[in-house]
Amino acid sequence: MSHTESQTSRPPGEVSEIETDVLIVGAGPCGLFATFELGMLGMRCDVVDVLDRPGGQCAELYPEKPIYDIPALPDCSGEQLIDNLLLQARPFEPRFHFGLMVEALNRMDDGRWRVRTNDGQCFIAGAVVIAAGSGCFSPRKLPAAGAEMHEGEGLLYAVRERERLRGKHLVVVGGGDSALDWALNLHDIAERLTLVHRRDRFRAAPDTVNKVRALIDTGAMDFRAGAVAELVDDSGQLSGVRLQGGDQVVCDHVLAFFGLSARLGPLTSFGLDMHGDHIRVDTERFATSLDGVYAIGDVCWYPGKLRLILSGFHEAALMAHDVKRRLHPDIRHVFEHSTTAMKEHLGPR
Ligand SMILES: Cc1cc2nc3c(=O)[nH]c(=O)nc-3n(C[C@H](O)[C@H](O)[C@H](O)COP(=O)(O)OP(=O)(O)OC[C@H]3O[C@@H](n4cnc5c(N)ncnc54)[C@H](O)[C@@H]3O)c2cc1C
Repeated sequence: MSHTESQTSRPPGEVSEIETDVLIVGAGPCGLFATFELGMLGMRCDVVDVLDRPGGQCAELYPEKPIYDIPALPDCSGEQLIDNLLLQARPFEPRFHFGLMVEALNRMDDGRWRVRTNDGQCFIAGAVVIAAGSGCFSPRKLPAAGAEMHEGEGLLYAVRERERLRGKHLVVVGGGDSALDWALNLHDIAERLTLVHRRDRFRAAPDTVNKVRALIDTGAMDFRAGAVAELVDDSGQLSGVRLQGGDQVVCDHVLAFFGLSARLGPLTSFGLDMHGDHIRVDTERFATSLDGVYAIGDVCWYPGKLRLILSGFHEAALMAHDVKRRLHPDIRHVFEHSTTAMKEHLGPR
């Protein structure tokens, strides 16, 4: 799926400024849906993401894993969801700026916000929407000898291309949702799959745990309790893992899922009212403690918050209506359903 992308390239030190209605921090599913909701209400969006493409966790961590709880989409992959969100937002031509990290947020005298990124690119926006998920994330590394040398080839922290693993001997390390989801998803294409976790107790959804246990009990999947001490190397190629205690498991690939170490990083220095690592918002407008700065999706917190994509979609809709009231206080707001609101963008049907 193509998307309008602007990659900034300026001589070092030169500052450029882009004016926009709304600056969105994060091109995950919630940031993408926000471009649609804001676009439908007539607002122009620029989206900044530190990654090199849209999709957030869906693209980075589980592009091929099925998602079952998006309303009216009984089954879609992370990648399909992101492609559809981009398609839905396309009439509004959001501008994407990838590979940039938002570092500073300053209120201007006229009430707008000046947002600065790590390479000096600045945005002047009437409102800022933080849809930063868990922040700038990177996978927690496998603490085993030889891990660094095999990273990206024999050792993977995310599955970008499931087919690449067909017919291979796989070791999946971890006991949480990601590890067990992937063990379930890969066992039928792998030549043999061994799940390695430090103990015979898992921290995943009960249904997932039951399915994995059933596969282990029937011998369709192997399980080894223990920790990986070393990746075994054969002339530069991964050939297996050695567990603490000395046992070895032969494999072509190790997939390690120890969760993400996410850094909200610069966002914590913006002076926002926080709840632990999350930004506190109200549930009418999804406004933060800074006037004109909103937070939606995984990054926000309110009592009862569920870290699900569908929650972020709802939050985006309420946020967009408040941003419109803020940017156009003199216009009488008439609520329209999408059929009417989209007419001028898609034409009559
Ligand atoms: C293995 C797994 C399976 C899941 N399965 C489901 C499921 O079946 N159903 C479901 O509803 N949810 C599921 N989730 C949760 C779902 O992925 C999240 O709720 C969703 O991704 C949150 O979307 P978001 O847009 O808020 O944040 P994210 O997807 O985290 O995107 C945030 C983006 O912001 C960017 N960013 C952060 N800080 C900055 C900065 N300072 N500057 C620039 N960019 C920045 C990041 O690079 C990232 O791209 C799953 C999660 C995982 C890990």
